[in-house]
Amino acid sequence: MKSMKLTQKIRIFPTPEQETVLWKLSEKCRLIYNFALAERRDAYRTGAKRVNYRTQQNSLPLIKEQFPEYKWVYSKVLQFALRSLAADYKSFFALRKNGCADACPPRFKGKQYFTTMMYNQSGFKLEPGKITFSHKYNDVPLVFVIPDKFSFDDKQVKQVAISSYRSKYFVTITYELEEPRYVDNGLYQAIDLGITHIVTAVNSQGKFLVVENQRPDKYWNPKIAKVQSRKDKCKKFSNRWKLLNEIKHKYERKRDNQTRDFQHKLSKKLVENTKANTIIIGELEVKHMAHSNKVPKHIRHGLNRATQNSGALGRFVHFLTYKSRRVGKRTIEIDERNSTKACWVCGKLHSMPIWKRIMSCDCGNVIERDKNSAIILMKRYLSQNAKWTGYRVFLDNLRHTAKCKTKVSPAVGS
Ligand SMILES: [Zn+2]
Repeated sequence: MKSMKLTQKIRIFPTPEQETVLWKLSEKCRLIYNFALAERRDAYRTGAKRVNYRTQQNSLPLIKEQFPEYKWVYSKVLQFALRSLAADYKSFFALRKNGCADACPPRFKGKQYFTTMMYNQSGFKLEPGKITFSHKYNDVPLVFVIPDKFSFDDKQVKQVAISSYRSKYFVTITYELEEPRYVDNGLYQAIDLGITHIVTAVNSQGKFLVVENQRPDKYWNPKIAKVQSRKDKCKKFSNRWKLLNEIKHKYERKRDNQTRDFQHKLSKKLVENTKANTIIIGELEVKHMAHSNKVPKHIRHGLNRATQNSGALGRFVHFLTYKSRRVGKRTIEIDERNSTKACWVCGKLHSMPIWKRIMSCDCGNVIERDKNSAIILMKRYLSQNAKWTGYRVFLDNLRHTAKCKTKVSPAVGS
């Protein structure tokens, strides 16, 4: 059986004593990182023999002997600090090699910086409802509550990281899950992804599901713009400027968190609430490349916005993909060229600019564009993969529901 790697980030609430311990340990990791960085730089400057991860790791015992306070930190965690330096260098060199001129080499980390502590394979203990970390700073135990909704009993935990961001603390648990085997159960769901309606889905029964997108950005962006313009009027780095900057970041975080939260919940619901084992979606990249040719000026604005949002949609696709794998289903991306233009009944191509919400074809087919697109995706997937039984069942069901006259809502202006 194949296994998949998943991560879960959980907020923890250390006591003031625990917080002190966390910062003490993190500081040691930070200093080791800085020390190792200095060593590498010196070697480079003086032309001495290159220092690599291996040599630096081998010198750790010596350092610990000379400076016993480095023994406070669990040994593997300290090693990881060196490893992350090596990784930082590696990605820096890779970026440079690819011609990225503004790639920066690793930098020294300042006092304010909480170095993430990585416990790999050992040094931590997971029990129902709590997690304990090893350290030798003082006798304050690092035990944190893990809420009941997270259970890792049957999951193989590989590593746990402790990180901090804006005075909040988190543990990130990486675990392996045996991936249930995917079986095509003859039921399918095709989803057209969009900005206004994030999801327009059709299933093998010919039933539609339309989900309005939640747009926290519509609420937060004007607020952010307002703060930004007030900030622009202040002297840079003045107290007022700093305050406004802080507020702006707070709004941005709220916007992003709300968007992500909505996407998590929706993708989970979609995967769990369908009987279909196969979910079909259009490839996002293709969508925008196809659009980029011959775009009339008056709709370019709307399109640009749509493209900006495709980052968020890309993440949504990622959520759908791993959440379906987790339960033995599959999310499959297929080419969606012309899926909005072709009439699903007769195949005739229509010009469908982005504001046109309804397709009405000479053949008598009148349908919302997103629904049409979802049907096209479904038909395409089933025919391309020669799933003819599924294909026939789908079309029969679809014609049946069409006979029962689907309600068509009035056009929505974009
Ligand atoms: Zn038609």
